[in-house]
Amino acid sequence: MHLPMDEWESYLLNKWALLPKSTQLTISTAETLSDIFLHSSSHLQPKDEMFLKQLSSGYVVEKDHDAPLFYREEGNKKFQEKDYTGAAVLYSKGVSHSRPNTEDISLCYANRSAALFRLGQYEACLKDIVRAGVHGLPERLQPKMMLRKAECLVNLGRPQEARQAISDLESNLAAKPSLGLSSHKILQRNLEHLKMKIQEKENLPEAFPAALTKAFEEMALEEENKQISGASLSVGLCTDPLKGRHLVATKDILPGELLLKEDAFVSVLIPGEMPPLRHGPQNKWDTGVSSGDLCCHRCLKHTLATVPCGGCSYARYCSQECMQQAWEHYHSTECSLGALLLTLGVFCHVALRVTLLARFEEVDRVVRMLYDETSNKDICSPENRNLVQTVNYTNHGESEENAKTGETPIPGCNVSGKYESNYNAVFNLLPHTEKHSPERKFMCAVSVAALCRQLRAQTRGFKSSKPKAVTPGLCADLTVWGVAMLRHMLQLQCNAQAITSLWHTESNESVITDSRQVRLATGIFPVVSLLNHSCSPNTSMSFTGTAATVRAARQIRKGEEILHCYGPHESRMGVAERQQKLSSQYFFDCSCPACQAETLEAAAARRWEAFCCNTCRALMQGNDVLSCSSKSCTDSVSRDRLISRLQDLQQQVCVAQKLLRTGKPEQAIQQLLGCREAAESFLSAEHTVLGEIEDSLAQAYATLGDWRKSAAHAQKSLRVAEARHGPASVEIGHELFKLAQVLFNGLAVPEALNAIWKAEKILLVHCGPESDEVQELRQMKSCLLDLSFIPVGPLV
Ligand SMILES: [Zn+2]
Ligand SMILES: [Zn+2]
Ligand SMILES: [Zn+2]
Ligand SMILES: [Zn+2]
Repeated sequence: MHLPMDEWESYLLNKWALLPKSTQLTISTAETLSDIFLHSSSHLQPKDEMFLKQLSSGYVVEKDHDAPLFYREEGNKKFQEKDYTGAAVLYSKGVSHSRPNTEDISLCYANRSAALFRLGQYEACLKDIVRAGVHGLPERLQPKMMLRKAECLVNLGRPQEARQAISDLESNLAAKPSLGLSSHKILQRNLEHLKMKIQEKENLPEAFPAALTKAFEEMALEEENKQISGASLSVGLCTDPLKGRHLVATKDILPGELLLKEDAFVSVLIPGEMPPLRHGPQNKWDTGVSSGDLCCHRCLKHTLATVPCGGCSYARYCSQECMQQAWEHYHSTECSLGALLLTLGVFCHVALRVTLLARFEEVDRVVRMLYDETSNKDICSPENRNLVQTVNYTNHGESEENAKTGETPIPGCNVSGKYESNYNAVFNLLPHTEKHSPERKFMCAVSVAALCRQLRAQTRGFKSSKPKAVTPGLCADLTVWGVAMLRHMLQLQCNAQAITSLWHTESNESVITDSRQVRLATGIFPVVSLLNHSCSPNTSMSFTGTAATVRAARQIRKGEEILHCYGPHESRMGVAERQQKLSSQYFFDCSCPACQAETLEAAAARRWEAFCCNTCRALMQGNDVLSCSSKSCTDSVSRDRLISRLQDLQQQVCVAQKLLRTGKPEQAIQQLLGCREAAESFLSAEHTVLGEIEDSLAQAYATLGDWRKSAAHAQKSLRVAEARHGPASVEIGHELFKLAQVLFNGLAVPEALNAIWKAEKILLVHCGPESDEVQELRQMKSCLLDLSFIPVGPLV
């Protein structure tokens, strides 16, 4: 996903294989990044660029003025099917392809406002109504939009503005006797209805005091850490030859304590499930939904109401402001490179954006000093550490003399020894040049070289027409730039941080929030990068937009190292798989306590993926042929057979979940009960798939309003998750949250309060008080505690 598109990757690997052995040797033994870059990029030939161009042409990133009508019609179909989210996404695609101030764009906004209205997103709906008007909404549609505006205002509890909107609409109607008689009547009827609704609303007490939602402000770090920006006072930066730079607790830390908070230095949205490449005219425009359609390409805010970049159909933003910021900082350069960047992959894109963010002059200066022609040494070789320090010092305008007298500073720190989240720190992340395979280095270098040539061509092109629209410093030596990007690409393998978000399904049918962790973007966080890995870490990381927050997941004693998990967590995979992943991607052998403790016997106890005996329900053991672990039983079966049964079952569960999504909860329940019976005959009681079935059952019953049954299934799903993740894990927090929602909706007051209390306790530790879930829990709690509570408002 992070590497280049498969076709480009295999093309380059093939090219590498065909290089003369002597050339391969030159590249393999090149000691510096600039040598690797120069030797590799000299092999980029026009035919390679042609191939790359051809691959890139599969991505639609330019505006296509025939597309808006197509997307509007497709959106209308979804709207008819009551898939309002799907409709909104398609209207957004229409917006992205439209020219400003055209009927096309105005109609797309107008239709999107209808979808947002149905989704209950009234604020966003109002904005779209304004946008539709700004771009020239046809006269005939104006009354409809004015009515929608009034309805939004009523639903938002702004009756005065709603009354104003209604009187505007009435005068509009009075001025237009030409309006068809029947549509006029419908409008009038809706108007009367709306007026009654305003009156009703005014007589009702407010369901949730608005202040409550904003009551839990983000917890700020109490005092700024003098050594590391964005860290709490409980964290210290150390370095030793074995661990490299790492963080330790400078005092005893309690679970839930906020340790680090850092905004990504750079982040690039992962396109998600890529739209299928264009193969022939019939599927010229894609109608699929990916994270690129659902969140802002700059700040990652989740939104259905995006505004497009004026120059391409690809980049979308949550607001005009984000669009402008992105344009100023990087998108003015990236805009015309969209297709190429998608082909070269996210790492290449991040590498480019880092250098754009750092402002090219800065990159130029830092890199030139590091790759001074005379020294011709790479900075990651130990003998060149001094050079790094020199750069750090001169970087901040300090004389070298001072640098020599001081203690050896930690790489990445500034003159006063402070480690900050800036380009200097990013640049000092280790690229591990010597550990990457030669073909990988070749692949990265050639990709970067291709990007550089495109940048040069773009600069030339711009010079003739629009001289100002070029990145500052772009005319400087592109080789220097290329070397910097190559370094960043190699750094990313170990230092890329996935920015994830908990996404909730937005469907009217499902009352319980169904959520899943989505990988939204890839970023670089210089401070977070200081954390070493453990398969059983003592911290938890969560994200708000592009900001990462690290909290203590358990008690950490003074002097103990602060660790986080790079991905291979002990609850996700066995020790052998973890070790393999960590050494191939991160170049180290993990010796964390979990890895040391986990023997093969322990692995057999991974009950969440274990099979059980068909006859006696005891666990099955063995490799290719599994036999029952009970001494009194002689059952045995081949693993292949069990695996194929498991695959069949998973397919059946998918069918059920689809039924649930498409508004057929009764059928879904029948299907799920069948799945459960099948599952119980060969899977352990704590098997993940069984948990998934119980979870879906809970949702299905909640949809039907049967809270009692829903809660019973949610409890079972919870027990399965506990076996796998442990009772205090963030996963259990999410499960408890769902259970609390069910019980809340069923008004099972004591049970709901109990679940809320447990969920809040766990989620506070992992996600902090500002997280959406904790805030919602607190709202539920205050509702339940308030005896005068009447179930009105969004939760019904
Ligand atoms: Zn944004
Ligand atoms: Zn653009
Ligand atoms: Zn480990
Ligand atoms: Zn048995």
